[in-house]
Amino acid sequence: MTVQAKITSAAAEAADVLGRLGVDEALWNGGGRPVRSPVTGEVMAHVHDASKAEVDAAIEAAHGAFLAWRNVPAPRRGELVRLLGEELRAAKADLGALVTLEAGKVTSEALGEVQEMIDICDYAVGLSRQLFGLTIATERPDHRMMETWHPLGVVGVISAFNFPVAVWSWNSALAFVCGDACVWKPSEKTPLTALATQALFERACAKFGDAPAGLSSVVIGGREVGEALVDHPKVPLVSATGSTAMGRAVGPRLAQRFARALLELGGNNAAIIAPTADLDLAIRGVAFAAMGTAGQRCTTLRRLFVHESVYDAFVPRLKAAYATVPVGDPRAAGTLVGPLIDQQGFDLMQAALADAKAAGGAVTGGERVDMGEAFYARPALVEIDRQADVVKRETFAPILYVMRYRDLDQAIALQNDVPQGLSSSIFTNDMREAELFISARGSDCGIANVNIGPSGAEIGGAFGGEKETGGGREAGSDSWKAYMRRATNTMNYGSTLPLAQGVKFDV
Ligand code: NAD
Repeated sequence: MTVQAKITSAAAEAADVLGRLGVDEALWNGGGRPVRSPVTGEVMAHVHDASKAEVDAAIEAAHGAFLAWRNVPAPRRGELVRLLGEELRAAKADLGALVTLEAGKVTSEALGEVQEMIDICDYAVGLSRQLFGLTIATERPDHRMMETWHPLGVVGVISAFNFPVAVWSWNSALAFVCGDACVWKPSEKTPLTALATQALFERACAKFGDAPAGLSSVVIGGREVGEALVDHPKVPLVSATGSTAMGRAVGPRLAQRFARALLELGGNNAAIIAPTADLDLAIRGVAFAAMGTAGQRCTTLRRLFVHESVYDAFVPRLKAAYATVPVGDPRAAGTLVGPLIDQQGFDLMQAALADAKAAGGAVTGGERVDMGEAFYARPALVEIDRQADVVKRETFAPILYVMRYRDLDQAIALQNDVPQGLSSSIFTNDMREAELFISARGSDCGIANVNIGPSGAEIGGAFGGEKETGGGREAGSDSWKAYMRRATNTMNYGSTLPLAQGVKFDV
């Protein structure tokens, strides 16, 4: 087992990076909310929580910006997003370093998160020339029917700690080209990366020239600040990413005022290792999906079903990977598993492991790695003979439950037998099994993969999940439609007035 060497100050590094990214020190120094780095446990900054009046003011300003922005041609709106992408390219190393300091991601994953922002900007720029509607055949002579897509208004973005910047960009890059304004409430655990992203957005605006003030803003705080966004009548769409508990609170409040909800909630993702699987490939796929980001991805692999014919060839190899994976300072070269976000994350992991043992699971790993005040743990692998309650809930930590299966229908049924429905995969070289897995009788998740793990999505496809994962879809495909309102237009270019369905109404 390799543990990376002990660590240097995160606070000093954060101050440096924030300076380079152009974040006004008044925004991160002197406020009432301490921001701790999961890397060292140090307090790096003190940010200001937004009051209800400040949230309202940000929303009013965003609404004003929307009224102007909706009149700007979409390809010109795309130009602002192109400039944002350029700023992100230039600042990739610094913003990535801040993601590491604030969310604890290892360097390559932190840089990958910023790359995802760049990718969605590129995608949105192209999209800005492709916001199209259908023309539909009508039953009436000399008529034409079509759908048009219009900007929606202010989009509220509530994000989770584990993708502190990418989630905002998935939403906002599309929202901006669609003609909307955004007000962002980042996780209270990761406000610094949000302030840095806003600073980069403002640099892009300065180059753009005439973007309306208030088009994007950040409001920092906890649940109350999120609620102020959720309840505001001038926010027609809230995109909320986080736990299922959060979605359960937010969804009904939005429904109460008939606002739209785009919910991206918890996952409990599975993989199946079938008899014909390429085990070398599967080991790597499983190891990254289960241990990467210290198990703190919504798409992290949490349940593994291994066919009984390959169990003894596969699981010991996997255990060896668990025993040797380097855990430590995410800034150090070679580290693959960084810290848990905080003590609460660590305590939840330990509680789940205790429950798993009580349910008859055999636990390997999971112990704390001593890194001072920060919370590092060795990833845990739990062999268990059934899908006990603890296996069915999402514990946001590196715990992989491993189960044996005999027949594929049974494995698919078990995979689907959890409340969440985000991501899934099968490792097989049998074409029939692969096709079955992605068919209507197969995985019930929003993401179903073959011969890659369930985590690490690209922005080109729509991202999101079913059941308690919330049903939202973000990023690629036609997800942009969530950020616009649709109108159906019927045009009469004749001189008679035939009514639909043959109705007569002659006055
Ligand atoms: P969390 O639910 O604790 O917090 C998420 C965000 O919601 C934070 O900004 C928080 O302040 C806000 N919030 C919490 N309660 C609220 C309320 N009642 N009203 C308004 N806002 C509220 O989640 P977390 O611990 O930051 O993140 C981990 C969770 O997020 C996991 O469950 C993970 O699976 C999920 N997640 C899902 C996706 C996805 O795309 N499906 C992506 C990332 C994370």
